[in-house]
Amino acid sequence: MTGKLYIIGLGPGDINLRTTEVCQILPHLTDLVGYAPYVERIETTSTVRRHVSDNRQELERARHALTLAEQGHIVGVISSGDAGIFAMASTVFEAIETGNPLWKQLEIIVLPGLSAMFAAAARLGAPLGHDFCAISLSDNLKPWDVILRRLRLAAEGDFVMALYNPVSRSRPWQLDAAFDLLRSLLPTSITVAFAHAISQDDENIHLTTLAEASAKMADMRTLIIIGSRYSRLIPREKAKLPWFYTPRSIKEN
Ligand code: SAH
Repeated sequence: MTGKLYIIGLGPGDINLRTTEVCQILPHLTDLVGYAPYVERIETTSTVRRHVSDNRQELERARHALTLAEQGHIVGVISSGDAGIFAMASTVFEAIETGNPLWKQLEIIVLPGLSAMFAAAARLGAPLGHDFCAISLSDNLKPWDVILRRLRLAAEGDFVMALYNPVSRSRPWQLDAAFDLLRSLLPTSITVAFAHAISQDDENIHLTTLAEASAKMADMRTLIIIGSRYSRLIPREKAKLPWFYTPRSIKEN
């Protein structure tokens, strides 16, 4: 089979945060497949065909991309950030595992991207400097009880947490329920960072404590980082947010 399927992470927004490898491959693609806002973000001048779809139709989108590759096209499936983190790479492999046996012979190349948590952490200081975990708060693809259990165990393990997909129109109450649970398990003085649209025009960062954290501070384009018991703030001059970091060593006494 001559077709190829590239699974591409575009990074958090700013083109300077897109890998050189991704920039070099984009002009060679015949077909781009992905969620409309991401596909539209690609400013390639070539005659690439754009196949845009709604956010919820991921498996269908993956099957469509595999079918195009099977027909001999050079296809790019696009995700924001890293394609392997709450994004299309797993969906493509799920489609391969359960779909047309020919798809197992296709050449599949996964190109990494800079995930939102890394871009947000760099703005804040170094909150992910020690053990951390990433949790999607979306209960579209997993039961809410699983999310609560993972939050509880992450709090018990004292991991710094990066929360993706904190709220959406169809999931208005989950984030406050998550904060309520964490407030019952952790010191409420722990730092919580709301990193909105990092590296995009309307980037905005807000630092608060677990006591004050509220779903009102987040939207669909916010990444939340919750510190551990060991994370610290270093105050800076007034106009600047303090640095938020997690030390690399833990000294129990
Ligand atoms: N694959 C992506 C994550 C997709 S899930 C990645 O690796 O970054 C979508 C979630 O990612 C959003 O709800 C938000 O929590 C986060 N996100 C994506 N881009 C972001 C950005 N530029 N700034 C802040 N959060 C972002």
